[in-house]
Amino acid sequence: MKNIDRFLRNIWLECCGHLSAFTTPQSHDKVPVSRNVDNVFCKGLKLEYKYGFGSRTELLLTVVEEYPVKTDDKIILLSRNEPLEWLCDTCKKKPVTLICIIHDWEEGSLFCKKCAEKHAKKCEDFSKYAAMPVVNSPHMGVCGYEGGVIDIERDVVFVKG
Ligand SMILES: [Zn+2]
Ligand SMILES: [Zn+2]
Ligand SMILES: [Zn+2]
Repeated sequence: MKNIDRFLRNIWLECCGHLSAFTTPQSHDKVPVSRNVDNVFCKGLKLEYKYGFGSRTELLLTVVEEYPVKTDDKIILLSRNEPLEWLCDTCKKKPVTLICIIHDWEEGSLFCKKCAEKHAKKCEDFSKYAAMPVVNSPHMGVCGYEGGVIDIERDVVFVKG
């Protein structure tokens, strides 16, 4: 379970070494990271995973299938989500590159490069610290998160095709 914890941090979460925990969805029992995956996982199992406890990001893990693979790697990435197809909240035309963590979703917090420059003039926090990069992660815009360290080709801004 330690390897899975590390993998999730590497691809989606690690910002400043927050605590994390696996728990069961209904009873919220903690699943110790010292346990071996063989003794925890079975087909159909769902587990909650929390990263950080103040600015927390929660994931739901599902064991979809199991089959034997010959490898020396601890974890092999078979597939992942593509970059999110978000367009700028202001101009609705260009892909977003920056998020303002002060302005919430309803007011519009996702900006393309050009609109971000305009927003920086109106929003003092944005020009100082509240501008965060758009990345392919559920931890985007949380704490100091700036992207993962594995599969970084797909940890990018979506490009309008
Ligand atoms: Zn953090
Ligand atoms: Zn724009
Ligand atoms: Zn702002």
